[in-house]
Amino acid sequence: MTHQQPELLSGLNNAQKQAVTATDKRLLVLAGAGSGKTRVLVHRIARLMEQGIRPHEILAVTFTNKAAHEMRKRVESITGVPTQSLWIGTFHGLAFRLLRRHHDAANLPDNFQIIDSDDQLRLVKQAIKALEIDDKRWPPKQAQRYINNQKDEGLRPQHIPAPAYLQEQNWLRIYQHYEEQCQRSALVDFAELLLRSHEIWLNHADILAVYQQRFQHILVDEFQDTNAVQYAWLQMLCHPKNNLTLVGDDDQSVYGWRGAKVENIQDFNQQFQDARIIRLEQNYRSSSNILNAANAVINKNEGRLGKTLWTDQGEGELIQVLNGFNETEEARLMADNIKDKLNKGYSCNDIAALYRSNAQSRVLEEALIREQIPYRIYGGLRFFERAEVKNALGYLRLVANRHDDVGLLRIINTPARGIGAKTIETLQLTAKTQQLSLWQSLEQLLENNQLKGRASTTLKQFHCLINDFDSSLKPLKLADKLERLIEGSGLLASYEKEGEVGQGRIENLKELVDACQQFEVDDESVDDTAQFLDHIALEMGERGNNDGGPEVQLMTMHASKGLEFPIVFLTGFEEGLFPGSNSANDFQKLEEERRLCYVGITRAKEHLYISHAESRRLYGTQNFNPPSRFLKEIPEYLKNIQHSTSIIAQPTHFSQGHHQPDLQGVQEDGLFALGQTVSHPKFGEGVILSYEGHGSSTRVQVNFKTAGSKWLVLQYARLEAV
Ligand code: ATP
Ligand code: MG
Repeated sequence: MTHQQPELLSGLNNAQKQAVTATDKRLLVLAGAGSGKTRVLVHRIARLMEQGIRPHEILAVTFTNKAAHEMRKRVESITGVPTQSLWIGTFHGLAFRLLRRHHDAANLPDNFQIIDSDDQLRLVKQAIKALEIDDKRWPPKQAQRYINNQKDEGLRPQHIPAPAYLQEQNWLRIYQHYEEQCQRSALVDFAELLLRSHEIWLNHADILAVYQQRFQHILVDEFQDTNAVQYAWLQMLCHPKNNLTLVGDDDQSVYGWRGAKVENIQDFNQQFQDARIIRLEQNYRSSSNILNAANAVINKNEGRLGKTLWTDQGEGELIQVLNGFNETEEARLMADNIKDKLNKGYSCNDIAALYRSNAQSRVLEEALIREQIPYRIYGGLRFFERAEVKNALGYLRLVANRHDDVGLLRIINTPARGIGAKTIETLQLTAKTQQLSLWQSLEQLLENNQLKGRASTTLKQFHCLINDFDSSLKPLKLADKLERLIEGSGLLASYEKEGEVGQGRIENLKELVDACQQFEVDDESVDDTAQFLDHIALEMGERGNNDGGPEVQLMTMHASKGLEFPIVFLTGFEEGLFPGSNSANDFQKLEEERRLCYVGITRAKEHLYISHAESRRLYGTQNFNPPSRFLKEIPEYLKNIQHSTSIIAQPTHFSQGHHQPDLQGVQEDGLFALGQTVSHPKFGEGVILSYEGHGSSTRVQVNFKTAGSKWLVLQYARLEAV
């Protein structure tokens, strides 16, 4: 790269250029979706570097690790300068880096480990049990939320005034106990990362001063979704003489439920009256039909700072509304439309399917698998959430840190080695009464011969096993170490005995060993195992397991923030699901759901599909929900309701026409509709649930009142409309 300068400013409009070149110490870029906020941030960093600011003096905060990688790549390609010393990452990733470097100041041992929310929940359960608190009245999930909410506000148990009522008192006790346990085992949850690194600033002025000195320029993307601790951390870090650039969109604040505070934007404006605010109004991402739909929806919200957004791209296609009889059919309509787009030359990578909650993905996945359309799930910890993967990692963790109680509990009797629940309870009791880690109490019980017969033998064997691993595997490389652990622990043998299922598990473990092999350490001074474990906890959470080919991207609408795709499917647009039933009557929540809808719509560049199902089975119950109000908020002239046409059976016709106004007339022609009640000469009355195939081979699934669900060839079934 020789001539970077032209690229740096030429691809920008005037407002963007101003934002890239502004010299104000406090700068806020407030603009709607697709207006180039992230682009401005990238170009601003590149420009700073070209003006002689060293990468080392810049700190950039992104919302995901993926965004951080992309931003780094873009900056490098514009400037041609390597950027290792440029800090780009998420708040969590940056906090983690600080804690690693300053673990002493953070009051942590150097081998502390990060736990994900699953592990956190397990520890919370343990705390509730140890305190003998009724887990019906104080459910673990709620306790977990309580703890994280407090941490997000920057509050430790000692900061919380003693509550007057039992309900609150117990939450606090659980928090306290959980915190002690984490400290003892050197475990750090996600919220704790932020809290501790904020405390480094609070308690160690010398360390803070070093970073204030260093980071002349701090830039933050997606500022609208920062929580209280993150904002406090930023404010302390940014010395008055340094430069702060914030980029955000109040209409895309969708993490209020996790403590994010859109008010931080107003607060920033009040605090820094001399801050410059730049607004970007041109959207470069979406066709005007898509943008108009997004604007129409978000206009229904009241609490807005107010922005205008226009585009000079053409109208594009209408928004296609897909109306499924049930969730399976909704998924099939999606898959059919994807196939159609693939036939027209689009790649799977161009396509994203978004949903409100993770539980919706399975049905969509099945439809894609049936059509042999490759896909990946983005976010959701798929691969690393699998039990066998967690088990193998459990060994790795325990060998790296004996006080890792979560790791120990996971594998102490996996594979089964005769250590029973009673023995484990004894361990937990000892740990609790003597303030020890589980490993320490195990050693103590063995030393004092406090266990009888079998319990003592099995624990001794386990103790030896782990210690032997530690000494014999130390010199090995990460991947070899893991392979030996998988074999030596007996995990491999136990899965080999499981037949088909076990085979799948073994394949996943192989993939895990592969992941270790490909893992590149970025800090030679730290042990590769520790780095790998942290890497997984922090980063892999965002990735699926992808072997490189093009794949349709499946993710929640939350996870899609900041991304864009030529083709987007928004699924599950039903009242009760989106907006969720507990949002419908809560003004704040409803507005947040609507912002989420705005985020979803504005991911699409060229084609937008919105689908809903008339009946849906989710979490074990069947619901009949009307289409989402958000769908109705999109003006009719922007929408096209799609009817499937490829399903005519001869001589009997079959259609999707559940909504066709003239159903009677249609039936005379021999057409049936999904959801229609029919009668069969032998099985009696039933409802049509589904169909497959075309023409004379069309088969229908009918749920008969007495005979149950049956698949019948339509042509011979002699069904009659009731
Ligand atoms: P979001 O709010 O969704 O995060 P954003 O404001 O960060 O969106 P970007 O992702 O930076 O927007 O930009 C949206 C799209 O428009 C990108 O594909 C980007 O490359 C393109 N774009 C932005 N500005 C321009 C421009 N001046 N000329 C051409 N394309 C542009
Ligand atoms: Mg962006």
